[in-house]
Amino acid sequence: MRSSSMLKGRVAIVTAASRGIGKGVAKVLAREGASLVIASRDFERLTKTADEIKSEYGAEVVAVKADLTKREEVASITKSALESFGRIDILVYNTGPPKPGAFLELTEADWDYAVKLLLLSAVWLTRDVLNHMIQRRQGRLIYITSLTLKRPLPNLTLSNVVRLSLAGLVKTLAYQLAPYNILVNGVLQGYVETERVLELAKDRAAKEGKPIEEILRAMSQEIPLGRMAKPEEVGELVAFLASDRASYITGSLISIDGGYVQCL
Ligand code: NAD
Repeated sequence: MRSSSMLKGRVAIVTAASRGIGKGVAKVLAREGASLVIASRDFERLTKTADEIKSEYGAEVVAVKADLTKREEVASITKSALESFGRIDILVYNTGPPKPGAFLELTEADWDYAVKLLLLSAVWLTRDVLNHMIQRRQGRLIYITSLTLKRPLPNLTLSNVVRLSLAGLVKTLAYQLAPYNILVNGVLQGYVETERVLELAKDRAAKEGKPIEEILRAMSQEIPLGRMAKPEEVGELVAFLASDRASYITGSLISIDGGYVQCL
């Protein structure tokens, strides 16, 4: 496929990108002309994703094995980007999903892990890329979070609680980094058709003794648009936020959920 040029010449980091939403975002950024550093802890799959994106869009893609809960591995993402491309224009922060469960089912170790996965990794990556972006006085920081920022879901305690801090991070950084021409936004996606969601639906189907199609239909019926998003649809929003076309958007938490969350 031919690439267009909304992000031509830009270098983007996308984390947790071996599959799912991160992969969908990486594909759209590559289609728009960006060079990529993609990271994930699952290196085998990440390499396949990198090869797929290279052959589909002719983009330069560097794959970095990094567990987001480990500080040194997170540091290697920015290091690789600077070694490979000498610049970073865009950080797209995405993570693996936290453990589901009610408060009373979670251990203190679960909380420690979730704080590293959903908050500290964002702080670490942001610190790393800012060293570089502030010198260049330009950059885009885009944090992929969840609809749970606006509508806590009953069985997602860790997501409901820990991810809220990302709203604070986006608002605070947008204010503090505006003088450096660094724009900061959050993406609040609803249900996105990824392997993880399909795995969860399969588990639920087995527990309830129903066909998976019935579970997926029930989930889709809760969404006004009547279907889940494709990962690439989240990618389209991220590509826009990363582009010159979004030059006056900062400090925003933007929902992309087919109308699922109805509060203002
Ligand atoms: P997914 O499981 O399909 O993909 C997750 C990616 O994260 C994979 O590339 C995996 O290798 C990577 N990953 C997992 N743990 C990691 C770690 N510790 N370090 C580095 N990489 C790690 O998930 P998804 O559906 O694409 O969701 C992505 C994020 O969006 C998750 O945080 C999820 O909770 C959130 N989210 C998803 C949905 C949805 O409907 N899919 C909705 C709202 C929020």
